[in-house]
Amino acid sequence: MVRVTVWNEYRHELRDAHVQAVYPEGIHRAIQGALQPHFEVRTATLDEPEHGLTEAVLEHTDVLIWWGHMAHDAVEDHVVERVHRRILDGMGFIALHSAHYSKVFLKLMGTSCSLRWRDDGRHERLWVVNPGHAIVRGLPLWIDLAHEETYGEVFDIPTPHELVLVSWFPGGEVFRSGVTFYRGAGRIFYFRPGHEAYPTYYHPDIQKILVNAVAWAAPTNGPAPVFGWAPPLEGTPTT
Ligand code: ZN
Repeated sequence: MVRVTVWNEYRHELRDAHVQAVYPEGIHRAIQGALQPHFEVRTATLDEPEHGLTEAVLEHTDVLIWWGHMAHDAVEDHVVERVHRRILDGMGFIALHSAHYSKVFLKLMGTSCSLRWRDDGRHERLWVVNPGHAIVRGLPLWIDLAHEETYGEVFDIPTPHELVLVSWFPGGEVFRSGVTFYRGAGRIFYFRPGHEAYPTYYHPDIQKILVNAVAWAAPTNGPAPVFGWAPPLEGTPTT
């Protein structure tokens, strides 16, 4: 069974009554609830020792989901290094919403990951643009979220491996909301929706995307690459 760790900064929910009303036990618990029927799911939060991401936890994690916003800088660099290394070794990584500015995602992308934004609580229409992709299996062609934060292009990321979802917002913006990348043996999915003030992670279609994304990002256990000097596979030349 695929082992998932849902990491959440868990600050907004403790400080802001409105956010607490939406996610009383934290965003991580809401996501865990959605994934639990399908996978083995644990959670980890910023204020735990090592941010809950010890070597042992990561070793037993097939896919790491990351939600962070106001405290990206509080994530210790040695933990970022550890997560990054595990991704290159094959752990899947799903960056949600404002995790575009998380240290791990920035390190994976190598660009600013900046974007336009405006939180006016208007709706979001999320379009599937790659209907054959495993991440959108069983979904309608578009999903309407009644209230969300607006993000807009340009989203300063490297050209994605695949573009799966594009958002439209009534303010006129569009945004690449579901994009995939490969780094080393690791599969990465960035997924835009999920501002802390709105109940996005309870939406059944959003939950379905998360379930599909975990299944897609799970390690494939392909062959381990060998780097550096290597002997010839055929007989050694004699002269
Ligand atoms: Zn937000």
